[in-house]
Amino acid sequence: MFNGIEIIDNADLKKYCTFKIGGRGTIVFPKNVNELKRIVKECDKNNLNYFILGNGSNLLFSDFEINTILVSLKYFNEIRQVKKDEVFVGAGVNLFPLNIYLKNHNLSGLEWSYGIPGSIGGAIFMNAGAFGHSISENILNIKVLKCGKVENISKKNLEFSYRKSNINGIILGATMKFKEGNLDEIAFLQQDYLERRKMSQPYDKFSAGSVFKRNIEKNIIPAKIIDTFGLKGTRIGGAEISKKHAGFIVNNGDAKAIDVLALIEYIKYKTGEDLELEIIYVK
Ligand SMILES: Cc1cc2nc3c(=O)[nH]c(=O)nc-3n(C[C@H](O)[C@H](O)[C@H](O)COP(=O)(O)OP(=O)(O)OC[C@H]3O[C@@H](n4cnc5c(N)ncnc54)[C@H](O)[C@@H]3O)c2cc1C
Repeated sequence: MFNGIEIIDNADLKKYCTFKIGGRGTIVFPKNVNELKRIVKECDKNNLNYFILGNGSNLLFSDFEINTILVSLKYFNEIRQVKKDEVFVGAGVNLFPLNIYLKNHNLSGLEWSYGIPGSIGGAIFMNAGAFGHSISENILNIKVLKCGKVENISKKNLEFSYRKSNINGIILGATMKFKEGNLDEIAFLQQDYLERRKMSQPYDKFSAGSVFKRNIEKNIIPAKIIDTFGLKGTRIGGAEISKKHAGFIVNNGDAKAIDVLALIEYIKYKTGEDLELEIIYVK
């Protein structure tokens, strides 16, 4: 079906997410837009669902076989300076190397994201953010594959809100704008943000980041509520509510997706809050 396209059948999905949890599935790795178009077409023709896989840092894979075709855009890894303060970034570029590139080119504005283990495609789709910033601040336009066609969509035609975008299509890349900065200052800020992260989050453990979304309108901060109910350290199987940050569930090494899902239900039951999931369950 995907003749000539890089594919891993029966892939161990633990290896493709930061939670290190998951069963088995098929992953395809298109090298260019034409291959990606073929994958989408074949999936449609064969009535198969597909799911775009970034760096898997916001995902919980099912313990069982996943029938959805996972499409990794890791080869969409171009970083190209288009103007002095504008850079085109491919969807598969991880935020770590992007931050290094920006530092080496004296471009400032994304330092807050240093330490988020996501790809730029995933970060844009989720409107990733931290420390009062979000990725949408730097977007000028995005390039998407939608209904078989490549389109450029400018930011004014997109909607971003807390950990949410209205992007409908496969993000191929984005043109992003930065400020001219100074290498030493950028390096200092990146390290500072990373240290703050390491101090407040279980950065040394397997997780998928914050499990629940904040509710900005109702001023609901899940981590605070979970902490108030004294739930830090609660375990089901190998899954544990982080002792360091109540908003994170960590995998102590042998957690299953069902352990994480049970812990999520337990949190909702104990707190009495219908908290909205930030992590995405892929089954
Ligand atoms: C230790 C840790 C710390 C974290 N800290 C933060 C934080 O501070 N702030 C924050 O916002 N998040 C944080 N996260 C969560 C996560 O890193 C971000 O949401 C990240 O942006 C997800 O990117 P990804 O490439 O891993 O996407 P994935 O997890 O692979 O996918 C997430 C979603 O994006 C979609 N997607 C991915 N790529 C594309 C594409 N090219 N086109 C269309 N859709 C796409 C996927 O289909 C999926 O729906 C953290 C996670 C961890 C493990």
